[in-house]
Amino acid sequence: MTGTIVIKNGYVFDPLNEIKGEIMDIFVQDGKVVTELPAAELKTGTFIDACGMTVMPGGVDSHSHVAGSKVNVGRVMRPEDHYKATIQKTSLLHSGSGYTVPSVYKQGYDYAAMGYTTVFEAAISPLEARHTHEEMHATPIVDMGGYLELGNNFFMMRYLREDDIEKAAAYVSWMMNTHKTYGVKCVNPAGVENWGWGKNVSSLDEANIHFEITPREIIKGLSEINERLGMPMPLHLHANNLGHPGCYTIAKESLKILDGIKPKQNMDVEWAKIKMDPARNRSVYLAHLMFNSFGGTIWADLKSGVKELAGYINNKDHVVIDSGCVPFGEATAMTGDGPAIYDIYKLTGNKWSNKDVEMEGGSGVLPFTYLKSNPVHSMQWAMGLECLLLINDPWKTIMTTDSPNGGPFTKYPEVITWLMSEAYRKQTISECHKWANDRSGIGGVRR
Ligand SMILES: [Zn+2]
Repeated sequence: MTGTIVIKNGYVFDPLNEIKGEIMDIFVQDGKVVTELPAAELKTGTFIDACGMTVMPGGVDSHSHVAGSKVNVGRVMRPEDHYKATIQKTSLLHSGSGYTVPSVYKQGYDYAAMGYTTVFEAAISPLEARHTHEEMHATPIVDMGGYLELGNNFFMMRYLREDDIEKAAAYVSWMMNTHKTYGVKCVNPAGVENWGWGKNVSSLDEANIHFEITPREIIKGLSEINERLGMPMPLHLHANNLGHPGCYTIAKESLKILDGIKPKQNMDVEWAKIKMDPARNRSVYLAHLMFNSFGGTIWADLKSGVKELAGYINNKDHVVIDSGCVPFGEATAMTGDGPAIYDIYKLTGNKWSNKDVEMEGGSGVLPFTYLKSNPVHSMQWAMGLECLLLINDPWKTIMTTDSPNGGPFTKYPEVITWLMSEAYRKQTISECHKWANDRSGIGGVRR
């Protein structure tokens, strides 16, 4: 983008620079925001009148499912998701369709319409990376990147089993480079490999079949490699046992493994041609906290475990989370955690797709509807908001719906309304099953 743009008289919000709604002008020169423009440029540039409007930095969605084979499976297996939500071709736009799993064109327009400029695909299987890039490339307007699934990779597990961290790091470095991915993803470590045998793992110290490696060893190894290579972001973790009563304990124990791991800071990574952000001080990104925060022991005594996890995160500085909010309504569950989706299939009987990616992992896809009348769904709504409201430092949190798992990303404005308005939360509590209030702390949040 060349030339200059002046965005005039908007209410500017920029948390990094502590600008909170001041009326000011924003100058853009050759695609970059600058503090001022030469006088000559001020006469010739493009002017945008933002009077009465909010001007903010572009939104970044750090965890969404928007490209690749499992997303496409979601599109293909859900015609009912597509004929209800369509956009027509215009002289500027492509046509598109899809509500929870939109087509590539529609998802680019929908994100841009909300002010988002960057979206990360949360799970790329290496063998499917080429297709994923094709879809990211075809998605208009927003910049995209993705995280490479390495938590159940045959070579990874073998090198870590042999305690050969050098070889494992060289392998990850080569994989990140050849597959053009941005972060290291770890989904149900050791468990998805067991799913190839119809099994899972249930504790951090249970070794899996054949590779004889435990989730704890994989989490620790991948994190060590992540810092050894000086990756731009912390290890992206989808903890074991996700979505099951009591799973918050394994999530908390997983976070403890990475307490004390020193993030490599302020380092130039030459192969990637990037300058590291010197501010990174987190060693782990726990994805969609809500799905990792179920308390209780069985479905009947289920309760929110967010308070315990938020308490831990409030006292530590090595964790950043995204929320995985549930705004009610239609969703499509899709994850690299194949056994987790199978368990939802057994509960709901909804149509279900499962996939095993040779030597790398797998995935599951299943349509899902969250209802205010359902006790568990109501509690999940409350828990998603707790994830963002009970953690004191907002810089440790990122708002998501784990789109489309908790609901589509187009519901973000409604999630923001619940976060900003105690009255709106109270109103929704009154419309929900009583578990929302009785089994979470959401009713007592004044924030
Ligand atoms: Zn996800």
